[in-house]
Amino acid sequence: MSFQLIKNKLTHIAHLLQPSCCNFCQQRQSEPICSSCLRELKENLNYRQCLICGRPHLSWVCQSCHTAGWAFDQTVALANETSRLVPCVKAFHLHGHIAQLAVIQYAWAIIKHPKMAPVDLIIPFPENLKVSQSRGFWSALELAKTWSKLSKSPYCRGLITASPHPLAQKKDVATHSFQMNVEIISTLPITNFRIAIILPYMHRPHQLHEIAKILKNYGARSVINWVLIRDSSKENM
Ligand SMILES: [Zn+2]
Ligand SMILES: [Zn+2]
Repeated sequence: MSFQLIKNKLTHIAHLLQPSCCNFCQQRQSEPICSSCLRELKENLNYRQCLICGRPHLSWVCQSCHTAGWAFDQTVALANETSRLVPCVKAFHLHGHIAQLAVIQYAWAIIKHPKMAPVDLIIPFPENLKVSQSRGFWSALELAKTWSKLSKSPYCRGLITASPHPLAQKKDVATHSFQMNVEIISTLPITNFRIAIILPYMHRPHQLHEIAKILKNYGARSVINWVLIRDSSKENM
């Protein structure tokens, strides 16, 4: 057997042993996204966003954020509704495919994480228990756990709780109302904390505004939304 043949066979075996393949092109290799798909993704995600609400926008702060007076300070969004990452986030968040978390985390770690300011606490966006049960997990909590390791900041589940809003059917009324968990806050004062709220999808800023308002009332210094997909397609309808 020639040297080249042995080398080819060994390379083939090494490829088979590699634990993963690229989520986009299915090429077998060790990372969840291969280098050429990652390059394409980076170019695709290289657009200007409004610093405050995270919508694609050419200036730093969009018109509506100038007047809206949101209680949160910033939104860091990985992608918008046209991204190649949307099917991964949908599979994870809507259909309970937990394996997609590795792909999403990898994209975030390479594209967003190096530019991120540190935070003192991560809070998963509250979710109705029935929704979590039907999916099999609370997607924002899984994100909080993973992002907590990535950013070396602690996370806290259940600090903010949600209950269905009595006027939820009416237009412009948020579907949930949020409360501070007084038991947790009595043991975990958040005075002067920089807090990140993490969630898979952000459609409108109103619910995040409500949560940020509560956190600021309890003394939080800043509140940032960490969002995977910032979908603003229906915002002006
Ligand atoms: Zn690829
Ligand atoms: Zn804005």
